[in-house]
Amino acid sequence: MRDASICTIHPNVSEEGFSSLAVATYRASTIVFDSAAAYADRGQRNLDGYSYGLHGTPTTRTLEAQLTALEGGVRTVLLPSGQTAIAVIMLTVLKPGDTVLIPDSVYPPVKGLCMDFLEPRGNSVRVYHPDGSDLEDLIDPSVKLIWLESPGSTTMEVQDVPYVVSQAKRHGIKTGIDNTWATPLLFKPLKHGVDFSMQALTKYAGGHSDLLLGSISVSDLDLRKKLRGTMQMLGLGVSPDEASLALRGMETMAIRMAHAGKVALDFAERLSAKGNIGEVLHPALPGNQGHDIWKRDFAGANGLFSVVLPADSEAGLNRGLDRLRIFAIGASWGGTRSLVAPMSVSNTRQFVTPWYDRTILRISIGTEDPADLWDDLEALFSEI
Ligand SMILES: *Cc1c(COP(=O)(O)O)cnc(C)c1O
Repeated sequence: MRDASICTIHPNVSEEGFSSLAVATYRASTIVFDSAAAYADRGQRNLDGYSYGLHGTPTTRTLEAQLTALEGGVRTVLLPSGQTAIAVIMLTVLKPGDTVLIPDSVYPPVKGLCMDFLEPRGNSVRVYHPDGSDLEDLIDPSVKLIWLESPGSTTMEVQDVPYVVSQAKRHGIKTGIDNTWATPLLFKPLKHGVDFSMQALTKYAGGHSDLLLGSISVSDLDLRKKLRGTMQMLGLGVSPDEASLALRGMETMAIRMAHAGKVALDFAERLSAKGNIGEVLHPALPGNQGHDIWKRDFAGANGLFSVVLPADSEAGLNRGLDRLRIFAIGASWGGTRSLVAPMSVSNTRQFVTPWYDRTILRISIGTEDPADLWDDLEALFSEI
């Protein structure tokens, strides 16, 4: 070989005797084959094989396998974000004329996807009450997908997943759930008969506020094939670098969540004891909407909860937010840094609730010292 060729073609070095605890990051667009026959055969390879970097590398397959094991399914696919994962499920299940049911408590961009993208392209969208009480009335033969999110990540309304699944199965309707709040550590949707268990890995799996990824786990190989079909048509795949960060994040996910869950519940209890700052929304607090269902179905709580602020507390909230020294102000959650985010639900909710026109302060607990965090919260709430 001449110099330019030596520069281009990497030498094969032995991997014998090398073993690392870290998963290697395999970057690839092109995947090459040993022989003409192997190349000719690549289209016939099963979906677990390798054909093109967009469709999987050993790095992304490792993350998929780890999530499949946690979810108790048969396969997982990875998408560039949680929102993309939701979109891929809907685009895979729904044909023109089909209807999707979404809970009123859903992550707001899902309402946008359904109403501003799917409806103009021939689907119908109906919003159901998160408690499922109106489901029976809303189901008709056009309904092909019931979407769930439990608890809703702003208002912490817990859904009765087994009930919704039983309704769906009676009518041959597919179900999909946003399991980002619980992660499969706290709730395993596939075990309850849900068809698609979706997570924003952006949150607890990533865990450090530095990546965007989504996943969908299924317990049916045919559904995996259909999802992969949609992804192939749309050209969707994920970077092995993002997958590598998620693999690293997942190593500490159980410990981070257990810690954040403990601190968040302690804070939620202390804040509700204050009494004068508004209602605390946390699934583990008795009286929270769906608390009994949460106790029945979930293995614990994470570090996210909300406080419904009293009416007309805008000015006090702004003063309080400016006093924060440890918490950062920002949306998203599940990272090492604790976050607060003021939210308004009135522009996204269809059903009027007690907190409909109030500001909700969402709090995500991270890994800082709880005493520092509590000092911050006391300073904030002293202004309200
Ligand atoms: C963040 C989030 C998503 C979207 O995830 P991205 O990776 O940011 O697209 C979906 N559902 C819930 C509940 C979330 O919190």
